[in-house]
Amino acid sequence: MQLIQTLQEMQALSQNWQKDKTIGFVPTMGFLHEGHLSLVEASTLQCDTTIVSIFINPSQFGANEDLSSYPRNMERDLQLLSSYKVDYVFIPTAEDIYPQFYRTWVNVEGISEVLCGASRPGHFRGVATVVLKLVNLVNPDLMFMGEKDFQQVAVLKTMLSDLNLHCKIVPCPIIREADGLAMSSRNTYLSGETRQQALCLSKAIHKAKQLYSQGIRDIKILLQAASKIIVDNNAEIDYIQFVHPETLLPVEIAETDTRMILAVKVGKTRLIDNAQLRA
Ligand code: AMP
Repeated sequence: MQLIQTLQEMQALSQNWQKDKTIGFVPTMGFLHEGHLSLVEASTLQCDTTIVSIFINPSQFGANEDLSSYPRNMERDLQLLSSYKVDYVFIPTAEDIYPQFYRTWVNVEGISEVLCGASRPGHFRGVATVVLKLVNLVNPDLMFMGEKDFQQVAVLKTMLSDLNLHCKIVPCPIIREADGLAMSSRNTYLSGETRQQALCLSKAIHKAKQLYSQGIRDIKILLQAASKIIVDNNAEIDYIQFVHPETLLPVEIAETDTRMILAVKVGKTRLIDNAQLRA
């Protein structure tokens, strides 16, 4: 496993990838957990070469968000990655990615402005921009991303297709703790009571899926039952929506591929989760 710390080194490598080899890429912000590692594992199984990037992207954090407190532990991350067949770990600096007078931003219209995009203006502009830059630098065939960030996958798929990039996204399932909480680097902000409250997201999903399996298709009923679970746990609903899995537009009648997607504030921590209604 080789560390790459400059853009020049990364470019020199990626310009010489062999055409008959499949290059897999796993972009992360570090503080790795089993969710990240499942993507790494998928890449090493499907690709000849795997590159993992660790970069806390400042441009996807809003002014009042947790950029400065975002958890980090590079030593531990590298240790975890060393037990996988990772070929390269790319660790660029913010100064190299966004030099002085940086001016160019990627906006994926519409799909970036709903759900998390509505609550976090500019977030997906930051995500799309950094991922396009990373894809240009790494030149992968496949990019492994978690469905945990369902909207992120939809936004980036649109970007890759609209900009005619050859890289394709491989969406990977959400990895959860034994009690149902979706793994996230931000779970480190939770403890005691808030860790218990955080279960309301997966419980709300479970309830909606249960009602769906009993034949209920009216979104209003699903929404009401899910909202009650969040409120009863003293958590704050940012949004709960039932959407088409590709357009992310809200539906009124649930279908098998309808995606339930929600963001909830537990104490000061904003958590997201999602699931297809039919398991
Ligand atoms: P992040 O470090 O939060 O930017 O996440 C990097 C990648 O890991 C993204 O593609 C995420 O969707 C994915 N990821 C984060 N948490 C999970 C999880 N619990 N299960 C699967 N993938 C995840």
